[in-house]
Amino acid sequence: MKRITALVLAALVILAIGLAAAETADTSKAKYVFFFIGDGMSSPQTTAAQYYLGTRGNPDADTPMAAPLTFTQFPVSGQINTFDATSFAPDSASTATSMSTGHKTLSGSINVGFTQGEKGLVPDAEQPFKIITEYAKEASMKVGVITSVSLDHATPAAFYAKAPKRNAYYDIAVQGLTGGVVDFLGGGSYLQPTGPDKDQKDVLDVARENGFAVYNTREEIRAVDGNAGNVLAISPDLQDSSALPYEIDRLASNDGSLSLAEFTAAGIRAMEGNEKGFFMMVEGGKIDWAGHANDVGAVIYDIYALSDAVQVAVDFARSHPEDTLIVVTGDHETGGMTIGYAETGYDVHMDYLQNQKLSYVAFDRMLSDMAASQASFDDVMAAVAENYGLTREEGSALSLNARDISRLSAAYTFGMLPSSQRAGVTGPEEKLHYGGYNPVSVTASHILANKAGIDFSSYSHTGVSLPVYAVGAGAELFNGHYDNTQIFDRFMDAMGLAK
Ligand SMILES: [Zn+2]
Repeated sequence: MKRITALVLAALVILAIGLAAAETADTSKAKYVFFFIGDGMSSPQTTAAQYYLGTRGNPDADTPMAAPLTFTQFPVSGQINTFDATSFAPDSASTATSMSTGHKTLSGSINVGFTQGEKGLVPDAEQPFKIITEYAKEASMKVGVITSVSLDHATPAAFYAKAPKRNAYYDIAVQGLTGGVVDFLGGGSYLQPTGPDKDQKDVLDVARENGFAVYNTREEIRAVDGNAGNVLAISPDLQDSSALPYEIDRLASNDGSLSLAEFTAAGIRAMEGNEKGFFMMVEGGKIDWAGHANDVGAVIYDIYALSDAVQVAVDFARSHPEDTLIVVTGDHETGGMTIGYAETGYDVHMDYLQNQKLSYVAFDRMLSDMAASQASFDDVMAAVAENYGLTREEGSALSLNARDISRLSAAYTFGMLPSSQRAGVTGPEEKLHYGGYNPVSVTASHILANKAGIDFSSYSHTGVSLPVYAVGAGAELFNGHYDNTQIFDRFMDAMGLAK
């Protein structure tokens, strides 16, 4: 973890250099537009990321130290409300729809409205919303969509597809490759490349037939240039659900796999030669997934991955300071994360988090192997000590107390059951304690977070508002506290486009 932190610190020292040029931009029309979305990212997540970094960089400091992220240094900041047509705690489909089209809709719907059905409101495919990328395309801008998760996931989909239900993955994928809107698609892969029943034409063939160059090696993607034409760039290194690895695991493995920042750079190289510029959406999608799992280390490192990707845009803006706009926000908060916990009172110990060595997904895999070999509680506790620093030995800041051990013991007893038996005995208590995640893994995450002074109130999304950060041409439009539908309007104004 120390090595990882050194890498991140080095990156942040470099990033501070690029901002001055972008800050001097006037209010001329935005020609190169970057929209970064940290899925599930609100103030608690960005605050934790800043203070973890600052604490690691200043181990002897007596006062809390915040290190800046790329986007927390932007001169303009605003705040958005996130509720959707019916839900205070909305989902990624409806919130992305708000930002990509300016319309509220139902959770689960992408870029379509809704109507009164027999049993309540239902999505209505007959009410399609026009997407900001469609307006940009009409103005001869190029369009890029990049994500750390699968390309057919709700957030990226909202920038190229219209679907009453977000889980129509194949239909969504095909719309992106045949719709004539997207020029560059990059990041994870597809969830249903041959359709839900595996009997449709492979989406990669659909891409090739529609003029996309399909790249799926590190070398090809690192070599993308302006001669590439339309590009579909899929990372060969995927971890879970066709997504890039968690950044905490990617850095720990140091295996040279592609980062979100590298996809952002590839998208810029592919599109920057266009006379009318581009609109590029880049999503840090696994901040949300880590939030669902209450995995604070994975949340923080995926925010660093997003911050590094934003830095690529800031570097680009140095060559185009008059007409580049960079906006960074989230779509909703995930996990009900907060800094401050009952057991630690006013104390927060961000440095404890350095003991976490991997994401919950990587630890789950370890635990599932251990379950298969019927590992003992002692063996599992050794793995918890190795990967989270939580120890049964006394005298350390991360020594487990009797209550912690009993929580882990209960999690072990439950977690080692075959999943078929586990389902039969899962009740409200288990749902509350484990949220459907590996019981040992999520309990270790909870205990480490709590000892650091961090807690989570949910395994789902919450309804708190989100910060917006902006720099460059038209950035001042993003000032103030407003509705997430206004993100669409303000982008349109910044680009000089009319509805
Ligand atoms: Zn989301």
